[in-house]
Amino acid sequence: MKQICIIVPVYNEEASIDVFFDEFLKFQDILSTKNYHANVLFVDDGSKDKTAGILQRLVKENNNCSALFFSRNFGKEAALFAGLEHAEGDLMIPMDVDLQDPFELIFEMITAYEKGADVVLARRANRGTDTFVKRLSAQWFYRLNNKMSTLKLEENVGDFRLMTRQVVNEIVSLQENQLFMKGLMSWVGFETTVINYTRPSRKEGKTKFNYIKLWNLAVQGITSFSTLPLKVWTYFGSIIALISFLYGLKIIVEKLFFGISASGYASLMVAILFFGGVQLIGIGVLGEYLGRTYLETKRRPKYIIKKKINGN
Ligand code: UDP
Ligand code: MG
Repeated sequence: MKQICIIVPVYNEEASIDVFFDEFLKFQDILSTKNYHANVLFVDDGSKDKTAGILQRLVKENNNCSALFFSRNFGKEAALFAGLEHAEGDLMIPMDVDLQDPFELIFEMITAYEKGADVVLARRANRGTDTFVKRLSAQWFYRLNNKMSTLKLEENVGDFRLMTRQVVNEIVSLQENQLFMKGLMSWVGFETTVINYTRPSRKEGKTKFNYIKLWNLAVQGITSFSTLPLKVWTYFGSIIALISFLYGLKIIVEKLFFGISASGYASLMVAILFFGGVQLIGIGVLGEYLGRTYLETKRRPKYIIKKKINGN
C-alpha cells in the first residue's frame, strides 16, 4: 500500500479546516479501495485565530492527521517547505485548505504517476475565479519570468502537485532560505506530466494574499532564478553612453564649425531627469539582489517549529 502525504499550510483558517477535513475523509474512503493510503500534515503558519485549537482536536480524534505549529507567521513558502521536510510516505501533495484544489484531481494525478511520472502538475484551465487584476498580473509574471529566467515555469500552475519521495528529497536538500517554492519545485526537474482542472472559488474565509504579498512573491520568483535584471544595466548603460558620445560629437562640431552656442533648458532638464530616473532604477535593482544576498548570508532558519503533534 502506497502512502500519500497531503501537506496543508494554514494561516488563520478557522472557518476552512473542518470543511477541508470532512472532504478529506470522503476522499480517503474512495482512495483506500485503490490501494493507497493518505494522511494530512497541517502546517500552522502562526495563526492568530482558533486554527491551532481546531488542529489539536483533529489530530487527537484522527490517526491519519498530524500538525506542525510555527512560532509565528513565516509565510506560505516556508510552511510548504517545512511540510515537505516533515512529510512521511511515498508521494507528497501540497494543497490549499480552502478547497480550491479539488481532491478528485488526486485520482488523476495517481493515474499519471502510475504511468511513470515523478511530478504531476495541476494546471488551472481557467482563472475565472480570480479577479481581473490577479489574472493579468499572473499572466505578466509568467511571461516576464519565462523570458528572463532559464528556469521555465509552467503557466497557471500553483503549488498543487504530486511529487514522489525522491523529488521531495531533492527539494528539501536545497539550502537557500529565501524561498520561492514554485521555482524550487520545478528547478529539480524529473519526469513531469501536466493535467488540467477548473479551479473553484474559495469555500470559506478570505484570501490571505494581498497585492503587496503577491508583488513580493513575484520579485522573489524572478530574483531567485534570474540575474538578467542585474546584467541588463551594463548593456543599457553602454547603449546610452554610445548615444551620448555621438550627440556630444555633434554638439562639438556644431560649436567649432558653425558657432552655434548651446541652447535649450528643456532638453537639459529632460536629460538630467531621465538619467536620474534610470540610475535610480538601476540602483534599486542592485538593492533587491544585495538585500537578498544579505539575508541569505545570515543563514537564519527558514522557520521555527514550536510544536509537532502526531495522530498516532
Ligand atoms: N497561507 C499560509 N501562510 C500565509 C498565507 C497563506 O500558510 O502567510 C495558506 C492559506 O491558509 C491557504 C493557502 O496558503 O491554505 C493558500 O492561501 P489563499 O487561499 O489565501 O491564497 P489564494 O488561493 O488566494 O492565492
Ligand atoms: Mg485560495
